[in-house]
Amino acid sequence: MATYVKKDGSFEQAEPLSRDCPHCGANAQLIPLATPSFEAIQSARPRQVGIAFRCAACNEPRFGRATVRSIDTVRIELSSNITEIERPVQRFPYSYLPGAVETLFREALQCHSAGCVNAFASMCRRTLQAAVTGLGSNARLKWFELFKDVVKIAEIDEDTAQALETVLFTTDAPVPEIDANQAAILVEAIKDMAYQHYVRTAKLRAAMKMRRFFADEDDGKIASLDRHRAENA
Ligand SMILES: [Zn+2]
Repeated sequence: MATYVKKDGSFEQAEPLSRDCPHCGANAQLIPLATPSFEAIQSARPRQVGIAFRCAACNEPRFGRATVRSIDTVRIELSSNITEIERPVQRFPYSYLPGAVETLFREALQCHSAGCVNAFASMCRRTLQAAVTGLGSNARLKWFELFKDVVKIAEIDEDTAQALETVLFTTDAPVPEIDANQAAILVEAIKDMAYQHYVRTAKLRAAMKMRRFFADEDDGKIASLDRHRAENA
């Protein structure tokens, strides 16, 4: 899949591009507004070009950079991977994470926000290692189950799933290089996994504790204690 700048001035994308918007927060389509000219690329032969888009949800301008793949006499091929210049700051309820995991996960998401996708990938593996350290082999398996869930629910294609599995779970080989599109999927995957593992569990337990408290109160266990206090006052 690629993007083309044609001699007649037209701009063709193989498929529409959607990204999280730093202005409105929506995952919305990027609609090309200003695209590089065929003549300008042909004469300057740059390695990369800039494209101005409009966010389909809020109309704010978005900017991207694409690699020039090939230049011929009728069309110029650009990579379909568009690197965003302004990226949304990734948010997460970090207070639910254990200290060591929180430090690494914060840095992982900061790398992603800064557009350092390979640093982000390496930090994802470190985050996961910190999350399972000292917890036995079952802990890693639990995270793997969460990953499999994400792949299934989000219908991630096999090649991407395999690449992300290597990033996260391989321990005896270096973290493979990933591109911007794979990073966009990885960030959603790891956020969901961390949410399921820490935030959901903590919230559910807190909610259950609260329910039990009110159930006990209805049964009179807690009310009777209050009454006892009142009678002795
Ligand atoms: Zn927007």
